Amino acid sequence: MNIVVLRKWSPTDKAELIALCNAVDRTYLSDRMPFPYTEEDADWWLGMVRLNEGKNGVFRAITVDGRIIGSVSVERNSDNRKEGELGYMLLTEHWSKGFATEAVAQICEIALHELDLDKITAKVYEPNIASIKVLEKNGFIFESHGVTADIKQAVKSVRTEPLPDNAQYIIAGPCSVESEAQIIATAKALAQIPQVTMLRGGIWKPRTRPGAFEGRGEEGLVWLREAKHESGLPTATEVATPEHVELALKYDVDALWIGARTVVNPFSVQQLADALQGVDVPVYVKNPVSPDLKLWIGAFERFQKAGITRLSAIHRGFSYYKESPYRNYPMWEIPIELTRQLNVPLITDVSHICGNRELLLPTAQKALDLATDGLMIECHINPDEALTDAQQQITPEALKSLLASLTFRSKQSGKVERDLAGLRSEIDDIDSELLQLLARRMEVSAQIGEYKKLNNVAVVQMDRWKKILDDHVSTGAEMGLSPILINKVFEAIHQESIERQSRIMGND
Ligand code: PEP
Ligand code: MN
Repeated sequence: MNIVVLRKWSPTDKAELIALCNAVDRTYLSDRMPFPYTEEDADWWLGMVRLNEGKNGVFRAITVDGRIIGSVSVERNSDNRKEGELGYMLLTEHWSKGFATEAVAQICEIALHELDLDKITAKVYEPNIASIKVLEKNGFIFESHGVTADIKQAVKSVRTEPLPDNAQYIIAGPCSVESEAQIIATAKALAQIPQVTMLRGGIWKPRTRPGAFEGRGEEGLVWLREAKHESGLPTATEVATPEHVELALKYDVDALWIGARTVVNPFSVQQLADALQGVDVPVYVKNPVSPDLKLWIGAFERFQKAGITRLSAIHRGFSYYKESPYRNYPMWEIPIELTRQLNVPLITDVSHICGNRELLLPTAQKALDLATDGLMIECHINPDEALTDAQQQITPEALKSLLASLTFRSKQSGKVERDLAGLRSEIDDIDSELLQLLARRMEVSAQIGEYKKLNNVAVVQMDRWKKILDDHVSTGAEMGLSPILINKVFEAIHQESIERQSRIMGND
């Protein structure tokens, strides 16, 4: 797992700094960095960093697995001491992995604290779409076009109004739009809750069995649009076919989500992606009902290829054979791995994970502790009378107290938790592989025991064992494993094998 660590520059980084500056792609860098980048350039720059660090700027090496892969800084503007300018560079082979986004997030956090800034700006070349995205993901917004002395062509200048560190998307609203009165009353009540950022409402409902309420269709879209105007909240609905896309856009729905039953079918996802070609609307992709990370990622790839840039993931839990208190088992490691691979915002749909009201609070808290970027929570003005998912919906009033009971932590500390949770589940997988390997090894030992018995060979052949252990110790050393560990582990394995073989040969 690659975690981005920013660390301060030190004089011993000189050789790596020179290598970085000479290797980095300069297409979109400002002219001020010399080329070729020499030892004197590095001496000058490291000296400048030492003098200014923490006073006029913060300067960090971007490292992954202990290797420097780039540089990122925020320098205080000389004419406005409360403003700083962001700059970064990253070796080409590390692009498109979310490293730049992460490095920018971390340096902005450091700069805002250490330099006491209230604004960070960045200049970026118009065609440098990747960098613009990195900035946008970090809450930078477009300010103005301009041409400045050290920049070769027209630039887009972007400023940030950094989102409060603990800001979240809160998408709330009924499972289904049922009537004009229901959606408007719900929307108006939700608009009174400051944290709510978007109104959801299902227009076409995928039902397990025919004959159940399947949504109001086009008529419901008219009411949803009215609810948007009455409440001022932007809206989102589920689309499952190209006709749904066309109608939802016709009635000004602001964001679309793809339901869990649709994401399982690549044909349907492709049809939706084709229908969305050239329409850059925000699209939220729910996880497929089955715990299949590749299928989920595949859906993102189809929308990405169609040119959709504002993609988010919605984690709504998975169908699972084990008994559990959840309606859909969360399997937190799957969304964690998704965000590690794709770097998209993650929204947790606690309502469909829980399936009841009681579990909403602890599940939402767990999601926040793992640095989710938002929550989706089903709310209905009269939940008990809801035509779909009645047991899990809550009133806007109940949502208000639920949100008040949650602890919204710093996203940065949540990210650490999320990375750790990802690493822990990797460890769990490795341990389970180790167990399976041990079991297989013992099976093979037993087969050898049978064979030795048949052929009347001694259980222990000391020479062979000593040689094997020596080989393991030296191979282990090449892999950074200590002789003590190798000796202990293999002695234990060998001992167990001997005992099994002895039992088989009747020597016990
Ligand atoms: C919904 O959000 O109401 C819904 C049907 O969700 P899912 O696709 O997650 O079952
Ligand atoms: Mn629902």
